[in-house]
Amino acid sequence: MKLIPLKLSVTTCYLMKTADKFLLVDTGYEEDWELFQKRLKKIHVGLSQIGYLLLTHHHDDHCGLLHHILQENSAIHVVMSDLCNELIKKGENDLTHGGGLLNKRVAFLIRHKQAYVSLMLHKKVDKSKDLKFQPYDSRKNDILFKGEPSLRDIGIPIEGKILKTPGHTVDSISVLFPDGDCLVGDAAAHMLPFAGTHYCVIFICNMDTYYNSWEKLIKAGAKQIFPAHGGPFPVEKLVKNMRKNKSGNLVQY
Ligand SMILES: [Zn+2]
Repeated sequence: MKLIPLKLSVTTCYLMKTADKFLLVDTGYEEDWELFQKRLKKIHVGLSQIGYLLLTHHHDDHCGLLHHILQENSAIHVVMSDLCNELIKKGENDLTHGGGLLNKRVAFLIRHKQAYVSLMLHKKVDKSKDLKFQPYDSRKNDILFKGEPSLRDIGIPIEGKILKTPGHTVDSISVLFPDGDCLVGDAAAHMLPFAGTHYCVIFICNMDTYYNSWEKLIKAGAKQIFPAHGGPFPVEKLVKNMRKNKSGNLVQY
């Protein structure tokens, strides 16, 4: 699948061409709005050409631009799971299902996250908005799905299948394409290797569930993993790093 990455401050979103419109997977932090527009301009894609916006889960660094984008083009169908729909209404990252940071080194780095994002965007980022975003109530033309439909099943004209890949959050999903390319959101990541992340994202709700999702992706035939944080990598990395992090390493958020 031809996946066009849009690299924002911390999040990488992806664009795919459908028959007539583009499918966008995820957005970035609300602060990424100008950068997002710049990235689109560079590849000569207008917001009017986006037909669908699929969210891999409800987090602030994935849905932060939702309102900005819909303000420019309200015809976009927001596509999300029923679980994501429940959580995104609340306007903050879900911590009711447990979760913590991978280890003390990551916890240290995350305490300085705001400084990092500010540096990347060359502007001050409001710390009080941390883990929060503008709540979103789904509209009539949005597409809410249950289970693991194919993209065609839910009206998106691309070959590909949705897989439930929880662990980072309860609502995390991935999209597997017939050629083995796999968009995973935060079900895996390629970031902060020096902090001992071993291809895990830094915040995890349930470590065991997280690794079960890796096994599911491997079994389903994923070949190249496209995470929302960091560049793509071959699935063998997941095999090699399977269960390298233990639940006991999680420190409270
Ligand atoms: Zn996330």
